[in-house]
Amino acid sequence: MSDEQLDLLKKKLVVSVKSRQKLERTYEQQFSTLTDFILRLSNVCKGIDIELDNKLGKLRTFLSKNTDIDKLSPLINELTELLKQHETRITLNLKQAQTALLGAGKKLQKVKGLPDNLRRELRSTLKGVEVPQDSIIHLLPSLEKLVDFYQEVLALKAELESNNTASNDSAGLDTDNLQKEVAAELLNILSNIAFSGNSAEKIDVIRNTLAQPVQAQTLVDSCVEIIRLVIESITEERQSAQNFLFSLNDALSSVHTAVSTSISGSKEISSSKQKINDKLKQELAGMSKEVAKATSLDGLKKEINRSIGDIVSALNQKEELEAEEHQLLIDSLSEMEVRLKDLEVEAEEYKKKLSEQRFKSLQDALTKLPNRASLDERMELEYRRWMRYNHDLCLAVADIDHFKKINDSLGHSVGDRVLQIVAQSLQKTLRETDYIARYGGEEFVLIFPESNLKSIEKRLNTIRQHIESIPFKFKHSDLKVTISMGVTQFKAIDQPQSAFDRADQALYEAKHAGRNKVIVKR
Ligand code: GH3
Ligand code: MG
Ligand code: MG
Repeated sequence: MSDEQLDLLKKKLVVSVKSRQKLERTYEQQFSTLTDFILRLSNVCKGIDIELDNKLGKLRTFLSKNTDIDKLSPLINELTELLKQHETRITLNLKQAQTALLGAGKKLQKVKGLPDNLRRELRSTLKGVEVPQDSIIHLLPSLEKLVDFYQEVLALKAELESNNTASNDSAGLDTDNLQKEVAAELLNILSNIAFSGNSAEKIDVIRNTLAQPVQAQTLVDSCVEIIRLVIESITEERQSAQNFLFSLNDALSSVHTAVSTSISGSKEISSSKQKINDKLKQELAGMSKEVAKATSLDGLKKEINRSIGDIVSALNQKEELEAEEHQLLIDSLSEMEVRLKDLEVEAEEYKKKLSEQRFKSLQDALTKLPNRASLDERMELEYRRWMRYNHDLCLAVADIDHFKKINDSLGHSVGDRVLQIVAQSLQKTLRETDYIARYGGEEFVLIFPESNLKSIEKRLNTIRQHIESIPFKFKHSDLKVTISMGVTQFKAIDQPQSAFDRADQALYEAKHAGRNKVIVKR
């Protein structure tokens, strides 16, 4: 080997030693970073479980002393086992926390008189809680929200209570929220019951009273009056049904009498006729006997003349009886006809009244739109049709924006007028096969058979813009009314309620997105 070659080899060796040293330093660095990381991580786990704490403490000591990895192995295995057990426990705890949160939320949902917005937000939050999570941290925002909801409800309750105490010593104060809720619910119920005549006028008066802010006493009085009127109209209804049944019974019994008179009359007549027939037969037999034993023509002539006289009078009698029978039949038939005509008129009136009653019971008194009971009926029908033919079926929920403000600033009667105008405008924009009902308060439900979501979204936006452009003018001030809508299409797994919930959820999102919007949820 030459000197030159030796030199080259030496250089190569030096480079290789250096790079080896560099590599070892990098490993050391990485090992120390990893050790630091494990130390820190083990500190984070502190306080969860004593056994885990002890073992992690041991691991930290080993690591800080740079103990050989072979000696660490058994400890690491034990720790892995412990962590596995811990993971199972966490999953269980997570499930329990989820159940507890859902339980608390559902309890809150049962509280009567929650404001619409709170109710919707709560429902949306609980939907989020139902989604499976892998860490308790994900539940924290929902927990925070739930606590907020509880606080809000407590504040509402406290407000109610302080209003109650205040209104005890000052009669002219505003009614509290609860009273408003009850009044609104009463109005809702009233628009679903059909009253007629005197009761209808009285109910109108109550409706107007309830539309204003009312004192607790007035509310109670109104409730009592409504119950009284409902009972009265039920009694009236029963009375009218009973009267009809009585007339039906009368008519039937007079028809029965007429028929039995005619039967017994004709029985009598037929027995008289039988007697005459017997007599006629007897006379004829007598005559033939006389002819057989006759010895002189003169005697025979006399006998036959007498018999013929008897026969003629018997035939006359028979004729009279037949005429009498005929008359009897005509009389009873015409009596029956009169009674049946009366009954027909009465039944017709009763039928008309029933169909008026039915129409009224499916119509909302204020907006003249179909009411909730009608909606339930129609929904069932459209749902069944959809199941059978599987054509597209869309469902939308519409709600007037900030309607409470209109009531509060311009009065309940202006609110009513706005409701009527919006309802009419909505109805006018619909096609013959579409359907709309007042769902309650300032909410409407629309059903669109044979239409897909895309075309309906477009139409709803046109409707929304139309409502926005209506020039409302009340008490010399301009008023802009807008509506928000949520819409969905029936899917294979849907029931009417699930489709409604989806549309309602979309409405909630439309409100959150700033109102005066149409949101589609598939
Ligand atoms: P949002 O935009 O979130 O829908 O707010 P909002 O004010 O429209 O909704 P909220 O549910 O808070 O208020 C609805 C109000 O509608 C409360 C209730 O008194 C009123 N209301 C319900 N039925 C009638 C009615 O028949 N006539 C009138 N004038 N008001 C009614
Ligand atoms: Mg509203
Ligand atoms: Mg509403």
